[in-house]
Amino acid sequence: MTAIMRMSRAYAPTLKEDPSDAELASHRLLLRAGMMRKNAAGLYSFLPLGMKVLNKVEAIVNEEMDNIGAQQILMPFVQPAEIWHESGRWDDYGPELARMTDRHGVEYCLGPTHEELITSLVRNELRSYKQLPVSLYQTQVKFRDEIRPRFGLMRSREFLMKDAYSFHATQESLQETYDDMSGAYERICDRLGLVWRAVEADSGQIGGKVTTEFMALAEYGEAEIVHCECGYAADAEAGECRCAATMYERDGMQKVSTPGVHTIEELATFLGIPETSCMKALSGKDADGNIVVFFVPGDHELNDIKANRAVPGFELLTDEEMESAGLFKGSMGPVGLPEGVRVIADWNLKDVAQWAVGANEDGFHYVGARNGVDFKVDGWADLCEVKPGDACPACGKALEGARGIEVSQVFQLGTKYSESMGATFMDEDGTEKPFIMGCYGVGVSRSMAAVVEQYHDDAGIIWPASIAPAHICVVPLAVNDDTVHPAAQKIAEDLQALGFEVAIDDRKERAGVKFADADLIGWPLQVVVGKRGLAEGKVEVKLRRTGEKRDFELDSLASQLEGAARALHAGEVNPFDELFA
Ligand code: ATP
Ligand code: MG
Repeated sequence: MTAIMRMSRAYAPTLKEDPSDAELASHRLLLRAGMMRKNAAGLYSFLPLGMKVLNKVEAIVNEEMDNIGAQQILMPFVQPAEIWHESGRWDDYGPELARMTDRHGVEYCLGPTHEELITSLVRNELRSYKQLPVSLYQTQVKFRDEIRPRFGLMRSREFLMKDAYSFHATQESLQETYDDMSGAYERICDRLGLVWRAVEADSGQIGGKVTTEFMALAEYGEAEIVHCECGYAADAEAGECRCAATMYERDGMQKVSTPGVHTIEELATFLGIPETSCMKALSGKDADGNIVVFFVPGDHELNDIKANRAVPGFELLTDEEMESAGLFKGSMGPVGLPEGVRVIADWNLKDVAQWAVGANEDGFHYVGARNGVDFKVDGWADLCEVKPGDACPACGKALEGARGIEVSQVFQLGTKYSESMGATFMDEDGTEKPFIMGCYGVGVSRSMAAVVEQYHDDAGIIWPASIAPAHICVVPLAVNDDTVHPAAQKIAEDLQALGFEVAIDDRKERAGVKFADADLIGWPLQVVVGKRGLAEGKVEVKLRRTGEKRDFELDSLASQLEGAARALHAGEVNPFDELFA
């Protein structure tokens, strides 16, 4: 049983004013509620209340890992450079990797992630297919020298991560563990009370990586995503784009004079047609310097990642390069392009029989240019950045846009590390093979911030009971009164006996200060004990989530909370709601 937390003794310095450099609610409120303090850019201390929350998040994560058979270990935070040279990442990782040299001149780094270390750990002892699969995890501080540490725990330099790694003899076995991990990550999000989406981080096309990011939806999340009520969700950068391109039908191709028209918007207005009927052209070159022109529907943007997938090494042409290639900025089209220029068009344009496009001549456009007759397309590809309103690739309904915070990610690594680091096992057929690996990470401290982003109001944090620093705060008013304090103490003990974690605000403070702090800290339930109420045998109970208040008979308070206690232990995220139903 957790001891009753006495706020008169707690090191929980709350702040009345907003810290000046905190932009996000989670950053601001975790500081104001006395849960953490900043020590330097991207470096934070967790104070007692914040530590309780962090420990609870970690406990949920660890429990879900244990439940799927992953085994906890602890690896060193400081890692030898040698293994990073083996994987090639000593050179590839860049300045985010913090490096150091010990007194003997040996190089090390501060662990930003542990693929190298775990691979070197198991490679000499995991020897046979009979020992596979194995999943190992740790929950540990990571260090990444982020270029822009910001938003408090959201993007810090030192942060707590749960990282897991799995080793397999076959792809099927990896897939099984990957699915188990994904399931565990879904349950972790649910138990934290998060509103979340599992996002395809890569569109899964050939050569694409198998990975899923779990995003907590939040107005100020760093990631832009699209999602659908059918459950589909994708990173806006990587999601498949299915949009409506329309046809401006003419009686054959006609050249029109379009003086001063250079943008899609100007063309659409000039012709009096929707932007979806105008084809946007972008010119670039491939890795060998060959010129390529991309066409996309006028209301969409060419996506960089997709352009590179279609044309490896793709780079946009500069104005000078366009000029010397004989291309007209603001009036490019597929008809009459210079010899040797390749045309790649977005797949959404495939069924558009006639295009409104540039005429490769300043001040002129073509309308009714016939695909396959007046011009030829050399290749079709998914090229556009997906946006809200486009069709869901899974069900066809209109996609919605949202922003998200990446709280966790699962990843099929394959043999990238085992091959480069010589980590092999003896397979059933007697041959040595590299392990097939997976890696899986949860941002434990970032998840805590994500919860605050989703659950707060002007007064402060609103913790889900599953990770609140304590479930109930008993607030005695008029502490010097002979009756109030003992009564509050008795209530706290009774609630504790039901299995709740209880705090008591026994500070010699005014009622207003206690109410403000209770709301700021975000205890899910407040039990206010005052002299007048006690005289009538009553206490006031406040549900932080809704702000609702109700008087309860003191005598029956504990028995009325029995159901909530059961709900809490059954894993209910908001077990007190039923009291006010
Ligand atoms: P991001 O894209 O946000 O930089 P990442 O994809 O590089 O994150 P991973 O390597 O997937 O991060 O790490 C696993 C988890 O660790 C992330 O899903 C995230 O929750 C957390 N994390 C990563 N970087 C940070 C950071 N700078 N501060 C806090 N948490 C972080
Ligand atoms: Mg990630």
